[in-house]
Amino acid sequence: MSALTPDEQDMVELVARFVDERVKPRVREFESVDEYPADFIEEMKKLGFFGLLVPAEHGGADVSAACFARVTEELARGWMSLAGAIGGHSVITYLIRTFGTDDQQQRYLPAMAEGRVRATMALTEPSGGSDLQGMSTYAAADGDDLVITGSKTWISNAQHSQLIGLLCKTDRTAQPAHAGMSVVLVEPGDGLAISGKIPKLGYRGVEACELSFDQMRVPASAVLGGVPGQGWRHMMRGLEVGRIQVAARAVGVAQAALEAALRYAQDRETFGKPIWQHQSVGNLLADMATKTRAARLMTLDAAAVLDSGKRADLEAGMAKLFASETAMQVALDAMRVHGGYGFSREYDVERYFRDAPLMILGEGTNEVQRNVIAAQLVARDRNRERI
Ligand SMILES: Cc1cc2nc3c(=O)[nH]c(=O)nc-3n(C[C@H](O)[C@H](O)[C@H](O)COP(=O)(O)OP(=O)(O)OC[C@H]3O[C@@H](n4cnc5c(N)ncnc54)[C@H](O)[C@@H]3O)c2cc1C
Repeated sequence: MSALTPDEQDMVELVARFVDERVKPRVREFESVDEYPADFIEEMKKLGFFGLLVPAEHGGADVSAACFARVTEELARGWMSLAGAIGGHSVITYLIRTFGTDDQQQRYLPAMAEGRVRATMALTEPSGGSDLQGMSTYAAADGDDLVITGSKTWISNAQHSQLIGLLCKTDRTAQPAHAGMSVVLVEPGDGLAISGKIPKLGYRGVEACELSFDQMRVPASAVLGGVPGQGWRHMMRGLEVGRIQVAARAVGVAQAALEAALRYAQDRETFGKPIWQHQSVGNLLADMATKTRAARLMTLDAAAVLDSGKRADLEAGMAKLFASETAMQVALDAMRVHGGYGFSREYDVERYFRDAPLMILGEGTNEVQRNVIAAQLVARDRNRERI
């Protein structure tokens, strides 16, 4: 597993301080009314969090995937929504830096590093998010333009993004279907309507919206990398970053739930002793801590594979699957430890319990994740690669 450089360690400590001093004292104020955390986002821009994956030559911090995962975990330990605010942005950053043309990199990366341009990724459609190759959003070639028609839903940060990494079809006749897909870099404008925010259980503060494209015109040069038909390959690579990010968010939520339960179990007394000394509660804490640590190590392992330049789809998928299920279990167990108070809006554990399920379904549901993992296992076995 790759160690963080001293600068990267400083960055993680900076985020931890930001979370403890700025976020934790105010998170309930924003979360309870589902208010967009404008102040936090502005601070995050100044601290360089939107430029974590932007190369230094374009003004970014250019940190390793391992550092990116640790920063994400720390943000999620304070409020998962803040980690979500850099989620899609970081995937699109990674796609542009890896596959973008020189023009695309010059146009977007410096502004993305500063957070002047925030990006979101738009994959899911109202008719389905798992079967992406069955999508219907279509960008038709028309002279030097593309004309986009269709709709996307559940798009995070849509109202506050100046750039949309849109996965769509550019050839509806291609076989297999993925050969006709492209990522198009769309700047919101005429022909695109963005809905109000969809009310949701958790992941509050940050909006998720529907996007409706009604013959929206963009230049043909907006296709990522300049060549249509590469979108599926590009996005599957980007989702490796996305899944590591979601896994890290899950670790952050699990860590926060564990810390809350551990503290409460020492303060609360029943039958004349702190409840952690009852074996059932002590066992819960031991299992919560063990699973959270395992989830962190899996996430950092996946990040190390990505940092090595190899494909990390198997490792990122496994980390996302394990960490998200762990976050859900640990959040539930933290509520158990809190007894009735775990159900109260006055304690943070109820928020962890509402936020955890997003990581089970985000960036591909865990059922789909298992399909990806199984396919990868077989492919690697056929290549006689050790698993
Ligand atoms: C708060 C929030 C934010 C989101 N942000 C974004 C975003 O920014 N960008 C974006 O593009 N999307 C986003 N999503 C969408 C998310 O990625 C999708 O909801 C998810 O991929 C599942 O798609 P679906 O909801 O259409 O479920 P469906 O695809 O309809 O699946 C329904 C159920 O069937 C199961 N299933 C489907 N196919 C299979 C299969 N082959 N094998 C086994 N089980 C299967 C699924 O696991 C699930 O349990 C967000 C969602 C939420 C809730």
